[in-house]
Amino acid sequence: MIRARELTKTYRNTPVLRGVTLDVSQGTIHGFVGPNGAGKSTFLKCLVGVVHPDSGEITVDGLDARRRSLAVRSRVGYAPAETSLYHRMKAGELLDFAIRYHPSPDLQRGLQLLEQLEVPSRRRVGELSHGMKRKVLLAQAIASNAPVMILDEPMEALDPEARRIVEDLLRKEASSGRTVFLSSHDLYSTQRLCSRVTFLHRGRVLRDGPVHDLLKGIPGRLHIQFRESMSASRLPSSEGLEWSGVDINWQVRFHCPLEKVMAQIASLPIASVRDDGGHLEDLFEDLYQAEVGVDS
Ligand code: ADP
Repeated sequence: MIRARELTKTYRNTPVLRGVTLDVSQGTIHGFVGPNGAGKSTFLKCLVGVVHPDSGEITVDGLDARRRSLAVRSRVGYAPAETSLYHRMKAGELLDFAIRYHPSPDLQRGLQLLEQLEVPSRRRVGELSHGMKRKVLLAQAIASNAPVMILDEPMEALDPEARRIVEDLLRKEASSGRTVFLSSHDLYSTQRLCSRVTFLHRGRVLRDGPVHDLLKGIPGRLHIQFRESMSASRLPSSEGLEWSGVDINWQVRFHCPLEKVMAQIASLPIASVRDDGGHLEDLFEDLYQAEVGVDS
């Protein structure tokens, strides 16, 4: 549904996108993650024709995003990261205004979403909190009924309960065949929500794949609470165990089987152990460290 090949963009001699190639399949929720300044927003803006790439190919639903940007926009519900527009309009009015140019918008659904997300539709946008503005943008994207949703940091500034609601809403939309491409800093939410993830770093794709494949080979992680204060010298270091922590709260990362770790720590004064292994956060950290190592 979304296809990019070797996309490049340079701002004043600074390359921001350096040959980005990726595919987003129809009916999936695809996460686009990476540190600040990686180029995620710039890429999303290229998709909706707000930014023109210097070279490469980019299509949405088979349409060239550069030459057919109007046709692309009618197929995309876009929630940008910036929330500074139309401060004097009421939330419900802005929603109506924003979805009108789509072929089959659903204003009623949009207003219901505002209610569900606890956004007062009669309040002026300028008086809404940052999180509420993000919810209005999200409601717009969903109520546009466009086959593709492009969401720039949709979870930003949302509390955990609102995140869960939004995650459920997006799952439902994807299961009805809509395609969701979202950028996020929240790797926990990304892991819960997305079937595929692309990691972007300094304008390049570092890793891309189905979440369950990416999670294979990620180190295990245990959170351990001890009955007494521990120092690093009392903790076993064989089997490549990596410890971090202080006092009674420690975390250990490992690449060997869990049983081997348990045998290593069996004699320690443990109060509780929580298995917190196999997370995208670990993969991201490792990729990022490797990249910083290469650069320095
Ligand atoms: P991300 O969304 O991953 O945080 P962005 O795409 O917003 O990254 O930004 C990538 C880089 O491009 C940053 O260094 C940013 O300062 C730069 N950049 C973004 N937009 C512009 C612009 N309009 N003019 C100049 N530089 C820009």
